[in-house]
Amino acid sequence: TLRVRFAPSPTGMFHVGGARSALFNWALAEQSGGRFVLRVEDTDAARNRPEWTEGIISALSWIGIHGDSPHFEGPYFQSAYEEQHRAAAAKLVADGNAYHCTCTREDVKARTGSEHQGYDGFCRDRGLAEGAVRYRTPDEGITVVDDLVRGRVEFPNKAMEDFVIARGDGSPLFVLANVIDDIEMRITHVVRAEEHLSNTPKQQLLWRALGVEPPVWAHVPVIVNEKRQKLSKRRDKVALESYRDEGYLPEAMVNYLMLLGWGPGGDREIMPWSEMVPLFKLEDVNPSPAFFDEKKLRAFNGEYIRALPLATFIARCEPWLDPSWGRETFAKVAPLAQTRIAVLSEITANVDFLFLDEPVFDQASWDKAMKPGAENILAGYLQRLESVSFDPESLKTALEEVGAEHGLKLGKAQAPVRVAITGRTVGLPLFESIEVLGRERALDRLRAALA
Ligand code: GLU
Repeated sequence: TLRVRFAPSPTGMFHVGGARSALFNWALAEQSGGRFVLRVEDTDAARNRPEWTEGIISALSWIGIHGDSPHFEGPYFQSAYEEQHRAAAAKLVADGNAYHCTCTREDVKARTGSEHQGYDGFCRDRGLAEGAVRYRTPDEGITVVDDLVRGRVEFPNKAMEDFVIARGDGSPLFVLANVIDDIEMRITHVVRAEEHLSNTPKQQLLWRALGVEPPVWAHVPVIVNEKRQKLSKRRDKVALESYRDEGYLPEAMVNYLMLLGWGPGGDREIMPWSEMVPLFKLEDVNPSPAFFDEKKLRAFNGEYIRALPLATFIARCEPWLDPSWGRETFAKVAPLAQTRIAVLSEITANVDFLFLDEPVFDQASWDKAMKPGAENILAGYLQRLESVSFDPESLKTALEEVGAEHGLKLGKAQAPVRVAITGRTVGLPLFESIEVLGRERALDRLRAALA
């Protein structure tokens, strides 16, 4: 059976690129009845923090990858397997596939005359019993990596230096630990970011030297921003957690992430996870960089929000509503908001005017709407509101009439009223909003705006 793994290093927030790799692996496990192993590569003690590990586990669970599924295995922690890594290094030395080396960087530089020259093989045949451990790479020929995404990739062995697999104190390097764990965990397919492709020929040599057939490799494309730069945490919003906290729906996020390098075919893009799973194929992943288009993600999210049953939408808004806000009142405007917001956090600013004693005035909105003449509209409407029948249609007709008296179309006449009532120039449909707010409070707000 297929066994894949996701092997994050807990050195920061959970990157959307990591989430995409995890989802590709998860789709493979689900479609084939296989296993997805979560292995936390926590060997860099200086950069690891337990909260990053917790963040990764909770973010994975948010996008549907968690231990309640029979396809999930772990988490395992790489630091627990250091003995195996050391033993493997010793075995490679004993078999003659690796050797100890005591050269410093300066030694190599002094001999080769360059910093950039690879290791010159000085200790290869010295038979040292201590020092860093280097793998003895072949001098001739090529190492071929058959990659399901990128096809056949060739690495000339001459260009591959004898690379270090363990430090002088015996502690393993990534290139070794990662392979040993994959072997121990009987991983059949390594699906990971393109950044690791340069490690793959080395790792494939290690698999073979340890007498194990290498896994199927697939390196999924880098993710870039609109300037075609690789997404970076300094420049771009890359943390899955920040999308969650802004009110992106996990199902929209999952859908969007799956499209970074893959597509279900045809021109369908919005597709639920359950339908994508059977269609997903590594062979169909496009090796060229994938553009992370935040605008498109937003639009996706808006579509997913609009597709929610109303009751679900209301429940999903809960974290963004103040506990003191009346839920019955909220339920009245929820359908109006559902068609308008793109991320759930936007619900707050759309409905807060209903619950606060006075609206939160946005200064720019105020300046824009309260131009000379605005007071005539406000005063005229105030007068009508005292007696008008309190339904959206009549509320609208009343404002149309006031506008006409002052030579203004409804659109223009609405602006000061909207700002007086809600504090902002954009928001829910005005007349429904006034209806839900109620006559007394609406009158108070118009009076306050005139004062
Ligand atoms: N810990 C490595 C990383 O986060 C794992 C690479 C791999 O998937 O093999 O980049």
